[in-house]
Amino acid sequence: MERMKIGKEKFGDFLAALDKQLYAPQKVGETLRFVPITPEDKLDLEFSNTTVPPKSVLFPQTETLYRYELGKTDLNLPDDEAEKVLLGVRPCDARAMAIVDDLFSWDYNDPYYQGKREKTTVVGLACSDPEVNCFCTSVGGGPASTEGLDLLLTDLGEVYLLQPLTEKGNNLCREAAEVLEQATEEDAAAAEKLHQEAAGKIVRKVDTEGVTEKLMELWDHSLWQDLSRACLGCGTCTFLCPTCYCFDIQDEAEGLEGRRCRVWDSCMFAEYTLHASGHNPRPTVRERTRNRVNHKYSYFATKFGKIACVGCGRCINLCPVNIDILNILAEVIKEAI
Ligand code: SF4
Ligand code: SF4
Repeated sequence: MERMKIGKEKFGDFLAALDKQLYAPQKVGETLRFVPITPEDKLDLEFSNTTVPPKSVLFPQTETLYRYELGKTDLNLPDDEAEKVLLGVRPCDARAMAIVDDLFSWDYNDPYYQGKREKTTVVGLACSDPEVNCFCTSVGGGPASTEGLDLLLTDLGEVYLLQPLTEKGNNLCREAAEVLEQATEEDAAAAEKLHQEAAGKIVRKVDTEGVTEKLMELWDHSLWQDLSRACLGCGTCTFLCPTCYCFDIQDEAEGLEGRRCRVWDSCMFAEYTLHASGHNPRPTVRERTRNRVNHKYSYFATKFGKIACVGCGRCINLCPVNIDILNILAEVIKEAI
């Protein structure tokens, strides 16, 4: 389908035409995160990026896998997932979904994640004003990158330009055809200009060429001690990273009933690798920080052929002690032979 457009004043009509559960960024306490909305809700898409990435919809922080009752063999599995639309996903976070997809369909097809993913249409919003710590262009992305998206919106001031990218994106445009207009060549050219200008505003950069091998050369280097010393082990950098997917399985029981849940976990927590014997192969922040960076830039890249970092900058913006993954990478590049 060709590019379409819609006046911002009619955007609610576009949403109302979609017979799906809608999710969009909304303020929840101090955080901006994807939550269920209705077409009548006030939408504010003028954000630079959400605090909590949209992975929280497909891979919730706490997810019931099943409910059980002592003495019964039937497991009470969650209901079928509804069709969803994620609205206003930034292109870096959409690329992150494509990375997480690889993990949840690698050695095991995770039915909980895949069930939601298959029924989700991802509507992106091109960035016009990247944040100071964004570095998507260094890791294969860009402010209007389309990987992982079904439909890309570009804010042209009075109107949104809609660029369908997949059959799911085409279907949304068909469902809402009555409120959409055909975009002109001028609209497409204006969007292209905005995309290029946004890419030009990204100031932080890193040369990732050969970084996978360099990280292995520096396994025992003192830089890990020096650059991780301030780490508090709070896990913020991993919980809020759109490509982190570590989880734990926990049971919550009350009386004769209970539920088994999947909950987010973090390799930055001391207990993460603690063995029952008391031995911990990653006993300090040095080993945990090295693992976090190696996982993104070496282990995942070696296994799946792509770096598991999309340059969203959250781990830099939100670390309480200013540990900066770009500074770590710069040090790695400088120290490697
Ligand atoms: S490692 Fe940091 S910059 Fe990279 S995707 Fe995760 S949170 Fe974003
Ligand atoms: S956010 Fe900062 S302090 Fe917290 S675990 Fe990550 S690197 Fe350490």
